[in-house]
Amino acid sequence: MLFHINLLLPINSMLYTFTNPSFKIISKHGFADVVENVVTKQKSLHAAQKFYKGEVVCLFSAGLTLSQATYLTIQVNEHHHITLQPEFLQYTNHSCSPSVFFNTTTFEIIALKNLNIGDEITFFYPSTEWNMAQPFICYCNSKNCLQTIKGAAHLSKKILSHYLLTDFIQHQLKKRGSL
Ligand SMILES: [Zn+2]
Repeated sequence: MLFHINLLLPINSMLYTFTNPSFKIISKHGFADVVENVVTKQKSLHAAQKFYKGEVVCLFSAGLTLSQATYLTIQVNEHHHITLQPEFLQYTNHSCSPSVFFNTTTFEIIALKNLNIGDEITFFYPSTEWNMAQPFICYCNSKNCLQTIKGAAHLSKKILSHYLLTDFIQHQLKKRGSL
């Protein structure tokens, strides 16, 4: 029976679970699976059900509230950074073409595009982070990849206009002025 269900899954799901031996599901969390690339050990989060653009994927809350950012936190205001609950959300990678948005006012994760089973759940880190403690080089392969990700403070309003941003980031941009 399971075999028949699997046959109905979209092709990209089959890519990471069947045809590509580099990827394996390491934990399941209802609407999402944590997947590990067995070569690089990099983990990622993938939809385990379909979502439509604009739909709430899940709610999240603060585990710990910290005064300094770490690689696990998202920023909720000028001085506070939270670790994510449920904890597996920490595997949501950055993309310059994100599939979800973390709304730090309503604590909802919103689908930014239609998601099929197997699609990676990613968000645009500068949509929550103003000035990142640990900048990194992005290899998301999207055609609008920004390459160096350092936080919204380092991006022009023109670039940021392509993205949904938290109320906090929008507030920071207003304070910054017209650039
Ligand atoms: Zn990128």
